Amino acid sequence: MLFHWLAIRNSIPVKEVLFRRNILPSSQSNLCIWCLEDTETVNHLLLHCKWSFNVWAELFSWWNLNWVMPGSIEEFSFKWFFGMGIKASKFWKVIGPATIWAIWLARNDLFSMGSSLVVRF
Ligand SMILES: [Zn+2]
Repeated sequence: MLFHWLAIRNSIPVKEVLFRRNILPSSQSNLCIWCLEDTETVNHLLLHCKWSFNVWAELFSWWNLNWVMPGSIEEFSFKWFFGMGIKASKFWKVIGPATIWAIWLARNDLFSMGSSLVVRF
């Protein structure tokens, strides 16, 4: 849950944040490590990237749910925790943050292998 809170505060070390804090050199790409099409922001990486979106789509498919992906992780969290109605069981409330955490770990695994590896869909 701490990671989820940091993501809402736009404080996890995605490339956009690292560039803003002058941690990454300007010579390095700020593009998403998976799709190489958009800047790696919190919202892109965790919600809107083709790769992470497919993870969410598969998850909702398992539960036979229709879901419109919100524009931000903050809106996502609000809808996840308060907008699911009777389906918002304790178990379900853990699934969202756990999936976000899993997406982040997968991103870090790929990042540690080097950004030259590109995943295509
Ligand atoms: Zn992407």
